[in-house]
Amino acid sequence: MSGAGQSAGGGRAKLIARVERIHDHAPDTRSLFLSLVDGKYLRFVPGQFISITIPLGDEVRSRPYTIASSPEDRGSFEICFNEVPGGRGVAWLFERSVGDTIEFAGPFGSFTMEQVPQVEIGLIAEGTAIAPIRPILKRAFAASSIPKMHLIYAAPDQQHLLYRAELDEYARAEPNFTFEPVIAAADAIYDRLLELAQQRWIDADADRTRQFYICGVGKGVIRLRDLLRGSGYERRAVHYEQW
Ligand SMILES: Cc1cc2nc3c(=O)[nH]c(=O)nc-3n(C[C@H](O)[C@H](O)[C@H](O)COP(=O)(O)OP(=O)(O)OC[C@H]3O[C@@H](n4cnc5c(N)ncnc54)[C@H](O)[C@@H]3O)c2cc1C
Repeated sequence: MSGAGQSAGGGRAKLIARVERIHDHAPDTRSLFLSLVDGKYLRFVPGQFISITIPLGDEVRSRPYTIASSPEDRGSFEICFNEVPGGRGVAWLFERSVGDTIEFAGPFGSFTMEQVPQVEIGLIAEGTAIAPIRPILKRAFAASSIPKMHLIYAAPDQQHLLYRAELDEYARAEPNFTFEPVIAAADAIYDRLLELAQQRWIDADADRTRQFYICGVGKGVIRLRDLLRGSGYERRAVHYEQW
């Protein structure tokens, strides 16, 4: 569970990808499907991100975007993002068209599951922060022994619960996987997630062997992390990525 960027072929060297396809999940949420212009496949570990160079005229930004697809999905790789109030970096990404090129470095990041743990796994995400969880889940499903996994995934409405059909299908096909979609007002999402985590993984039993993968935006992620760690789960068992 540590910096797999280099081992996955990443590094600071700049790479160039072409936009092959665009998919709109919702008016404010989009996926870009990218291919390296040199024809090679990007090597990465599920859960990693790339760092995109965003030239804005008055400044050049570098922003991380998680790879929402799996290494096994040969061909292009996917990033998924949403509009942010005042977010000029992501606004630039929304302006990209098919055929445009994007410069990036990576992959980077240690929010990964390189060894599938043989204990129960709790996964928590909201909105586009399902991006790292999606390939992590797929990796776990490919393990010779699939651990028991429960995903709590929240959004303000149905259209922002991304990859819903795919997640429902996993829940139907994989006896060890359960999926709990949650609709909550944007400003109440983390209160709801905290409540559900408390009920399911703290109050329900005394088992503290579980591992957790939490991804989301802002301080709510830290509140979830602290709730679980403060309730007896080991520090290193609670993996999190805060956007
Ligand atoms: C490791 C990592 C991986 C990330 N992966 C993704 C990804 O796959 N998809 C994605 O959409 N974003 C992702 N982000 C966030 C992304 O890098 C940018 O921060 C975001 O797009 C806003 O950048 P900006 O330059 O437009 O605005 P900024 O001016 O830099 O940000 C404005 C504010 O928006 C908040 N913010 C950041 N991301 C979001 C979001 N998704 N929704 C609402 N508010 C947000 C920030 O906390 C900041 O306060 C990731 C961040 C990190 C640290």
